[in-house]
Amino acid sequence: MNAKKQLALFGGPPVRDRLFPRYNPIGAEEKDAAVRVVESGVLSQFMGSWCDGFNGGPEVRSLEQEWLTQFGSRHAVAVNSASSALVCALGAAGVGPGDEVIVTPFSMCISATAPLFWGAIPVFADVEPRHFCLDPDSVESKVTPRTRAILAVDIFGHPCDFVRLRQIADRHGLLLIEDASQAPLAHLNGKRAGTLGDIGVFSLNCHKHIHCGEGGVAVSDDDSLAERMRLIRNHAEAVAGPKGETNLVNLVGHNMRMTEIEAAIAREQLKKLPGLVEKRRENCARTVDRLTRIPAISFGGLRPGASHSFYLLPLLFDAQEAGCPRDRFLEAVKAELRPTQGREKEGVKLYGGYVKPIYMLPIFQQRIALGKNGFPFSLAPQVDYSPGICPVVEDLHSNGIFCHDLMHAAMSAQDLDDVCTAFDKVWELRRHL
Ligand SMILES: *Cc1c(COP(=O)(O)O)cnc(C)c1O
Repeated sequence: MNAKKQLALFGGPPVRDRLFPRYNPIGAEEKDAAVRVVESGVLSQFMGSWCDGFNGGPEVRSLEQEWLTQFGSRHAVAVNSASSALVCALGAAGVGPGDEVIVTPFSMCISATAPLFWGAIPVFADVEPRHFCLDPDSVESKVTPRTRAILAVDIFGHPCDFVRLRQIADRHGLLLIEDASQAPLAHLNGKRAGTLGDIGVFSLNCHKHIHCGEGGVAVSDDDSLAERMRLIRNHAEAVAGPKGETNLVNLVGHNMRMTEIEAAIAREQLKKLPGLVEKRRENCARTVDRLTRIPAISFGGLRPGASHSFYLLPLLFDAQEAGCPRDRFLEAVKAELRPTQGREKEGVKLYGGYVKPIYMLPIFQQRIALGKNGFPFSLAPQVDYSPGICPVVEDLHSNGIFCHDLMHAAMSAQDLDDVCTAFDKVWELRRHL
């Protein structure tokens, strides 16, 4: 057999012998911004009391101002992570022990576990088979008299069906929280992701489109929700009295404050965001165009009225059409490629599935979260976390979907073509798998 036509998995020459470029959006502008703050000597200006510094220093306040201009919301509250922002949002919403919050099983874990921090109960709904976001029909079927909120995630960078989620939320008097950590600058019907719910949350951790090390931003058009988030961010209980707050529900604050250095870096990153998202979109268009010529691979498409910001590129895989299991196919593709610079140990960043459905985590399977007596699950014996409760997500994760970020803004046309050529080669030689 022609050596070129042997799979690298079986000792043939790989499609690519160079590492892929690393995605690093941090440059001279961020360095200068950080130096400016360090030289000022003011690394944070938050004060945990009701005074001028309660809402932070100049960099934090400027970041919030620029964020709300970019995203078109009335308020922005900068915090130290999106995880903090989600906990803060649910606290501000008044969610409490035994309240139910409908969540997705297909996201980073905090998108489903944030309610636990207030003693509330995550209730899992299933996802859409082609868009992977919360399925509105499944959501509606999970609403009970105890439901207080829906926490929807724009997974991979594609907005949820907020038209229908909004109808459901309004019909049942629920708060709608949007985790847009993966979807900055995605749109639905002309509105930016993050502004489609009552509160939206963004992440600035180092894996996201833009980052400042660690950080997050919550946005809202609601004055009272935003003010309550500012309180929870910064030791609410110490401030409630002097400020004259009368609604003390969940005003047990924390330190979720962002530093001035992070805010200064995030301001520079925000300027770069449109260009970085645009490049990802171009790269994904090129990749999708080529990969979907393979009959077993398809892209789920965009929701009408939506744009995608491609944190990851999710693709559907039809094992029957391919005649071999997804993970075996991907193993062969990975053997044709090389890892990413600086992340060699992680191997080729191509993933069969995404995350295991979150209800499979031990805390849900064993119903142990706060303390050793099963609180808060003990308040909700009726809520089921058995394997099988969300069949669509289970099938996607174990068979139907794969994803990768080998389309980020530092990937050249040649890099993208190598990825696609590896898929083509494995497709052609799949009978050997
Ligand atoms: C990254 C991520 C988070 C958490 O972000 P942190 O800033 O690390 O807390 C939450 N939700 C989703 C969907 C994410 O991708």
